[in-house]
Amino acid sequence: MDYILSKYCPRIEFDSYEDFFENFTINIPQNFNFAYDVVDEWARVEPEKKALVWVDDNDDRKEFTFSDISRMSNQMANVFWEQGIRKGDVVLMILRRRWEYWVCAMALCKIGATVVPATIQLTRKDIAYRCNLAGVKMMVCVNDDYVCEQTELALQDAPSVQGKIVCGGEREGWLSFSDLIASASPEWQRPEGDAATQIDDIMLMYFTSGTTGNAKAVEHSFKHPFGHIITAKYWQQVQENKLHMSVTDSGWAKFGWGKLYGQWMAGACVFCYDMMKFVPAKLLQVMQDYKLTTFCAPPTMYRFMLQEDVASYDLSPIQNFATAGEPLNAEVTVAWERLTGKKIREGFGQSEGPVLVATFPWLEPRPGSMGKPSPLLNIRLLDDDGNFVPDGEEGAICVTHLKDAYPPGLFVGYFGDPERTKEALGGEYYNLHDMAWRDPDGYLSFVGRNDDVIKCSGYRIGPFEVESALVAHPAVVECAVTAAPDPIRGKVVKATVVLARGYEGTPELTKELQNHVKKTTAPYKYPRIVEYVDELPKTVGGKIKRKLIRTNDGIAD
Ligand code: ATP
Ligand code: MG
Repeated sequence: MDYILSKYCPRIEFDSYEDFFENFTINIPQNFNFAYDVVDEWARVEPEKKALVWVDDNDDRKEFTFSDISRMSNQMANVFWEQGIRKGDVVLMILRRRWEYWVCAMALCKIGATVVPATIQLTRKDIAYRCNLAGVKMMVCVNDDYVCEQTELALQDAPSVQGKIVCGGEREGWLSFSDLIASASPEWQRPEGDAATQIDDIMLMYFTSGTTGNAKAVEHSFKHPFGHIITAKYWQQVQENKLHMSVTDSGWAKFGWGKLYGQWMAGACVFCYDMMKFVPAKLLQVMQDYKLTTFCAPPTMYRFMLQEDVASYDLSPIQNFATAGEPLNAEVTVAWERLTGKKIREGFGQSEGPVLVATFPWLEPRPGSMGKPSPLLNIRLLDDDGNFVPDGEEGAICVTHLKDAYPPGLFVGYFGDPERTKEALGGEYYNLHDMAWRDPDGYLSFVGRNDDVIKCSGYRIGPFEVESALVAHPAVVECAVTAAPDPIRGKVVKATVVLARGYEGTPELTKELQNHVKKTTAPYKYPRIVEYVDELPKTVGGKIKRKLIRTNDGIAD
């Protein structure tokens, strides 16, 4: 057990959070390459070990061992090589959750090329933006009409792209993954000397969710997978040879968090449900039928699953539920525990790194709190001048001591944007611009993104607290709390609300919701304006765009 982890981590078992925080360390070799040192190594020592179980909406089901992934990634490395892809070249992949993602990502890792994952909802303009910014040389796409058409149009404006491969079928004008791999040799030599990758070379580039503006290209080096030992082993608590499911499209950093690096280092088998659309009842069915051991999904998915009859599904084999990406309302975790008997463990982080704060195994989950800092990074709450804030007061989450020891897993720059990179990483600390406070026991609670914190009538109001109060009312499925203009007060608190089935947005309900907030939190935080909508504006990844609501209401940042 723990064969790979024990190569790099002197200690794997810990008695307490304090023991873990003080004593967890990783030794990182200069020439570590995930595809050779994890995938090929598992294939060598345990050829039949299961790496991936993949199902889709048509009950197509496939299973891959580490030997399969090792062999197929060798074949695809030969294919990419023949297509002219070399170390340092950039390949953009839009593959939804197709199993070919794992094969191609490992093939490109073997060559030392940079993978840029992207999500399927991108438009022609988004794709061209990514290709031009990152200098993409080749594209690999799922055989989906929308994705392929948008890509073909984008390529008219993206001259750097020299070839395109389609997965999951044939398409005119595209090279076919299945044809290419069928005729490719499974022999591939790990490059040596200058052709070999070094730990600080760029392995991966994520585009951020674009919640606050244009998506940024976050660069990660070959060191990045080490950060995810914490994500997978100690937050999601994946178990060796057991199924772990994280719900995410391959276009997001969450995929690297939940479906690849840490899971495979810990020897867990990744379970993937390649759904066309998120149908809460269907996801619950899959979670039950496949007897998963660990599970992770964003808070919004838990919120929507709770609209179904959760207790009628047998989720008892699932030993750990995790969530990240947005704040988890206490109400959701309390309801989930009532129905499944288990609490949800929250994690916090960004595309820019691995999990930074989490409810680690030794910690009792506290509703409304994210947990405690990861031992890999120095995490502090700082004020605008870079001073520590005392417990109980709000500060920006920062990764400090960058100059002493650069944390494994943290990004190394924003590609094509040296100014932004310098601003973020050029000083002593990296400011995430996410606001939180710490209780005397060291648990951190999220307040809001700095830009989303509402400043009105001399108060600072974190949207998360008001949103959590509203979600605790049975009429509210989800909501966004923002500042709105007011002729007398300047700015007031506004709630944009999606109602549960059977409720109507009447003035009486508005009064009731306002009173409910006044009772649940400090009365000055109550929303003076309540607007009812069918759905909230969200990023393609499903994050609430509070900034868009503010802009539509005429509030400039
Ligand atoms: P962009 O940077 O393009 O505006 P984004 O920040 O939403 O988009 P991601 O990297 O996908 O892109 O998301 C990271 C952000 O998600 C964090 O900075 C934080 O604001 C939010 N987040 C992640 N986990 C949590 C959590 N557990 N609680 C609250 N917020 C979270
Ligand atoms: Mg961000």
